[in-house]
Amino acid sequence: MMKKLILASNNKDKLKEIREILKDIDIEIFSLKDMKIDIDIEEDGITFIDNAYKKAKTIFDILNNKEEYMVLADDSGLCVDALGGEPGVYSARFAGEHGNSKKNNEKLLKLMKEENNRRAKFICAMVLVISDDTIIKVQGQVQGIIGYDNKGTNGFGYDPLFYVPELKKTFGEVNSKEKNLISHRSRALNKLKTELIKYIQEA
Ligand code: IMP
Repeated sequence: MMKKLILASNNKDKLKEIREILKDIDIEIFSLKDMKIDIDIEEDGITFIDNAYKKAKTIFDILNNKEEYMVLADDSGLCVDALGGEPGVYSARFAGEHGNSKKNNEKLLKLMKEENNRRAKFICAMVLVISDDTIIKVQGQVQGIIGYDNKGTNGFGYDPLFYVPELKKTFGEVNSKEKNLISHRSRALNKLKTELIKYIQEA
């Protein structure tokens, strides 16, 4: 029997995107809320993969019925070349306060003020814990250029500062459909889907 998938998140947008991309695989997807799991996991890893693995594994370990479920977790962020890869795993709390995008974006603009090299990438790591010894790890990324001011009001986080040459727009100026065609998250998810299909065929 195919295992059910628990997404280690309650984020509605992530759930929607994951359901959409995995819709042609016959798999049931649940949020933490659906599973009545309420747990706060500290993201203290050095890499995106470390953090995603810690989230997925911690939740998998507390399940009573491990044979029935697998757990998927993600971690993502912005890496700016001129800042040595920062904010990286600190993306959500770059300016100190967790999830304050306005302050994070202000800090980024300030640090980049005199900088000519504006190359950056969004990275998304996804880790799927299927069993104690079957774990799938993937990463997706998208290249961009840090702008000189905020452009657009769509998306979230650093989107208005992330200009994508492929789109000739920032992620703040495109709708979610256009963003999801090339985003780090959808690229990671599509890689995960390929790996998951391989696993299902071999199981
Ligand atoms: P998390 O993986 O949901 O914890 O995201 C970490 C942080 O990275 C977010 O709070 C944002 O600051 C940043 N980030 C990750 N993905 C995106 C994106 O698609 N657009 C803008 N910011 C992002």
